[in-house]
Amino acid sequence: MAKLTTLKPRLKVIDTRRIKPVYGEQRRISGSARVGLKRRIWVRDAGHCCMCSRAVDLHESELDHRIALQFGGDNSERNLWTLCTDCHDGKSAREAAAGQPDEEALKHAVPEGNQVPGFVGL
Ligand SMILES: [Zn+2]
Repeated sequence: MAKLTTLKPRLKVIDTRRIKPVYGEQRRISGSARVGLKRRIWVRDAGHCCMCSRAVDLHESELDHRIALQFGGDNSERNLWTLCTDCHDGKSAREAAAGQPDEEALKHAVPEGNQVPGFVGL
Protein backbone atom coordinates (compact mmCIF):
# COMPACT_ATOMS: atom_id res chain seq x y z
CA MET A 1 0.00 0.00 0.00
CA ALA A 2 1.34 3.33 -0.98
CA LYS A 3 2.41 5.63 1.75
CA LEU A 4 -0.09 8.29 2.43
CA THR A 5 1.06 11.70 1.39
CA THR A 6 -0.09 14.82 3.05
CA LEU A 7 -1.97 16.99 0.65
CA LYS A 8 -2.82 20.41 1.84
CA PRO A 9 -6.29 21.50 0.85
CA ARG A 10 -6.36 24.34 -1.60
CA LEU A 11 -6.82 27.64 0.10
CA LYS A 12 -10.31 28.93 -0.25
CA VAL A 13 -11.43 32.49 -0.35
CA ILE A 14 -11.83 33.35 3.26
CA ASP A 15 -11.81 36.51 5.22
CA THR A 16 -8.11 36.90 5.80
CA ARG A 17 -8.34 40.13 7.70
CA ARG A 18 -7.03 38.43 10.80
CA ILE A 19 -5.79 35.11 9.57
CA LYS A 20 -2.69 35.21 7.46
CA PRO A 21 -2.60 32.46 4.89
CA VAL A 22 0.43 30.32 5.46
CA TYR A 23 2.37 29.44 2.38
CA GLY A 24 4.85 26.85 3.50
CA GLU A 25 7.60 28.17 1.31
CA GLN A 26 7.59 31.53 3.00
CA ARG A 27 9.00 29.93 6.09
CA ARG A 28 12.36 30.06 4.38
CA ILE A 29 12.62 33.55 5.74
CA SER A 30 11.89 33.58 9.40
CA GLY A 31 12.66 34.99 12.77
CA SER A 32 15.00 37.90 13.28
CA ALA A 33 16.31 37.70 9.72
CA ARG A 34 12.82 38.27 8.42
CA VAL A 35 12.33 41.22 10.76
CA GLY A 36 15.53 42.83 9.54
CA LEU A 37 14.67 42.17 5.93
CA LYS A 38 11.18 43.53 6.38
CA ARG A 39 12.57 46.73 7.81
CA ARG A 40 15.08 47.10 4.99
CA ILE A 41 12.45 46.62 2.31
CA TRP A 42 10.11 48.97 4.13
CA VAL A 43 12.82 51.63 4.18
CA ARG A 44 13.52 51.06 0.49
CA ASP A 45 9.82 51.48 -0.23
CA ALA A 46 9.84 54.72 1.78
CA GLY A 47 7.25 53.36 4.16
CA HIS A 48 4.56 53.11 1.52
CA CYS A 49 2.39 50.29 0.31
CA CYS A 50 3.64 49.32 -3.14
CA MET A 51 0.15 48.72 -4.45
CA CYS A 52 -1.99 51.56 -3.12
CA SER A 53 0.81 53.98 -2.13
CA ARG A 54 -0.65 54.45 1.31
CA ALA A 55 1.87 55.31 4.02
CA VAL A 56 2.14 52.35 6.35
CA ASP A 57 3.79 51.95 9.68
CA LEU A 58 6.47 49.28 9.72
CA HIS A 59 4.55 47.24 12.22
CA GLU A 60 1.33 47.51 10.26
CA SER A 61 2.88 46.60 6.95
CA GLU A 62 3.45 43.22 5.38
CA LEU A 63 6.64 42.02 3.77
CA ASP A 64 5.28 40.33 0.68
CA HIS A 65 6.52 38.42 -2.31
CA ARG A 66 5.25 40.24 -5.40
CA ILE A 67 5.23 36.88 -7.14
CA ALA A 68 4.57 34.31 -4.46
CA LEU A 69 7.15 31.58 -4.02
CA GLN A 70 4.56 29.01 -4.95
CA PHE A 71 4.22 30.66 -8.35
CA GLY A 72 7.93 30.70 -9.03
CA GLY A 73 8.90 33.92 -7.32
CA ASP A 74 12.09 34.08 -5.33
CA ASN A 75 13.40 35.67 -2.17
CA SER A 76 15.40 38.35 -3.94
CA GLU A 77 14.71 41.93 -3.04
CA ARG A 78 13.48 42.47 -6.58
CA ASN A 79 10.56 40.27 -5.64
CA LEU A 80 9.94 41.62 -2.17
CA TRP A 81 7.92 44.66 -1.36
CA THR A 82 5.93 46.36 1.32
CA LEU A 83 2.17 46.12 1.33
CA CYS A 84 -0.45 47.47 3.66
CA THR A 85 -2.50 44.77 5.35
CA ASP A 86 -5.51 45.47 3.14
CA CYS A 87 -3.58 45.04 -0.09
CA HIS A 88 -1.75 42.04 1.28
CA ASP A 89 -4.93 40.32 2.36
CA GLY A 90 -6.64 41.06 -0.94
CA LYS A 91 -3.66 39.87 -2.94
CA SER A 92 -3.35 36.67 -0.92
CA ALA A 93 -7.03 35.93 -1.30
CA ARG A 94 -6.98 36.54 -5.06
CA GLU A 95 -3.90 34.36 -5.47
CA ALA A 96 -5.50 31.57 -3.50
CA ALA A 97 -8.71 31.84 -5.47
CA ALA A 98 -7.10 32.11 -8.90
CA GLY A 99 -4.20 29.78 -8.29
CA GLN A 100 -1.89 32.14 -10.13
CA PRO A 101 0.04 35.35 -9.49
CA ASP A 102 -2.19 38.28 -8.71
CA GLU A 103 -2.84 40.41 -11.78
CA GLU A 104 -3.41 43.50 -9.68
CA ALA A 105 -0.02 43.11 -8.06
CA LEU A 106 1.70 42.63 -11.41
CA LYS A 107 0.48 46.05 -12.48
CA HIS A 108 2.77 47.53 -9.87
CA ALA A 109 6.54 47.43 -9.94
CA VAL A 110 8.94 46.88 -7.10
CA PRO A 111 10.53 50.26 -6.36
CA GLU A 112 14.10 50.77 -7.36
CA GLY A 113 16.25 51.17 -4.32
CA ASN A 114 19.54 50.31 -2.82
CA GLN A 115 19.70 46.74 -3.90
CA VAL A 116 21.98 44.46 -2.03
CA PRO A 117 23.56 42.24 -4.70
CA GLY A 118 25.00 39.88 -2.17
CA PHE A 119 21.71 38.97 -0.65
CA VAL A 120 20.98 35.40 -1.58
CA GLY A 121 18.18 34.51 0.74
CA LEU A 122 18.42 32.51 3.87
ZN1 LIG B 1 -2.07 49.02 0.08
